[in-house]
Amino acid sequence: MIYNQKQQNIANRIEDNPGISNWKDWKWQLKHSIKTLEAFEYLTDIKFDEKEKMDLRRTFDKFPLSITPYYLSLIDKNNFRNDPVFKQAFGGVEELTTLKSELSDPLSEEKDSPVEGITHRYPDRVLFHVSNVCAMYCRHCTRKRKVGDIDFIPSKEQLKKGIQYIAETTQVRDVLLSGGDPFMLSDEMIDWLLSEISKIPHVEVIRIGTRIPVVLPYRITDKLISILKKYQPLFINTHFNHPREITPSSKEALAKLADGGFPLGNQSVLLANVNDCPKIIKTLCHKLVKNRVKPYYLYQCDLSEGLSHFRTPIGKGIEIMESLIGHTSGFARPTFVVDAPGGGGKIPLMPNYILSWSTNKVVLRNYEGVITTYEEPDNYDNKLCDRNCDNCVLELNLDEGNEYEAIGIEKLLSDENDTICLVPENNERIQRRDDTENYTEND
Ligand code: SF4
Repeated sequence: MIYNQKQQNIANRIEDNPGISNWKDWKWQLKHSIKTLEAFEYLTDIKFDEKEKMDLRRTFDKFPLSITPYYLSLIDKNNFRNDPVFKQAFGGVEELTTLKSELSDPLSEEKDSPVEGITHRYPDRVLFHVSNVCAMYCRHCTRKRKVGDIDFIPSKEQLKKGIQYIAETTQVRDVLLSGGDPFMLSDEMIDWLLSEISKIPHVEVIRIGTRIPVVLPYRITDKLISILKKYQPLFINTHFNHPREITPSSKEALAKLADGGFPLGNQSVLLANVNDCPKIIKTLCHKLVKNRVKPYYLYQCDLSEGLSHFRTPIGKGIEIMESLIGHTSGFARPTFVVDAPGGGGKIPLMPNYILSWSTNKVVLRNYEGVITTYEEPDNYDNKLCDRNCDNCVLELNLDEGNEYEAIGIEKLLSDENDTICLVPENNERIQRRDDTENYTEND
């Protein structure tokens, strides 16, 4: 089963004996990924002149080309220079420009790496790079330095070092698997990795960051879902940047994941001439929510090598957030963040809603421009919190509530319960006893 004529044509050209029945086989898709300029021209009928070809070859020598036939089929070849799918997949000579401010590792992930493969930046969580391969090499990738390097696929032995670090670092309660793309590992490897991490008692949650539902949705197989289901709670964050990437195939992949019980989020990157428009982002957010995906982050494009043509001013992100906050449901909008160059982590940004402030009033504005005041409480006990909690009046028993309570004969049988007899209500004998006690007391 194939969705459209364009896919049929690509499949026919890839294989003499039309590969229609293999189109949805993710391994077939990977085997036939488009890695050369010639293959791209042949399969799309898009032709470049000699000068441009030379530039493109230089670009692909530095940052390799790899596009799945599925993602290739989404390119609008009649308007490819303006096409968001083409721009994310194909690239151009602009990538060879490196500005002074651009770095190969702008987020200093290597510097915050206690062992190979682990980035430990925030107190309670780590990023675990479990693969350096991706189904497609996105031209805007912040980890261009890593992806596409075929000599750097971590072995089980290398991954064990990361697992050991997590096991020895008891403050880590959240592990984010990233890469490359973790779903590029085999089913067996994913199963092994998740089971090893899940055995670590202090790890409460595992997250997977993946672009697979966008560029290779057929990888989300029933078998993969049955493996992932064993390791709840498992959160999955995907990476859609434009509404055009939401197709019947990607919807099917998202539905499988959502039906599998995995909370889904989406991280978009704000990219010049791809999605730097309030209408595009709002439509994307609405489509995501319809497919049970929560828009999670909208990233300011990082200062990675060769990305200057993708970068927008921060003001563009603020403008987009202005068009979302209040204009659509809170759960349908992402948080706009800048990942601090040098490794400071994500910094959330939004338009200003506080216009002024005094000791007893805050002047605020809403999305329509209504200006309002919020009066501060005058009976608030302005205590200085020194984080010494011994004398605090707040309830600091943070254990989960105990809903279980033994009832009936169960109470008598339980070793945990001191009850020695059960007496029916209004029992006359006990009533008499009570009366006598009252009499005695009042006497
Ligand atoms: S899928 Fe992610 S890590 Fe891989 S190339 Fe794309 S942006 Fe980079």
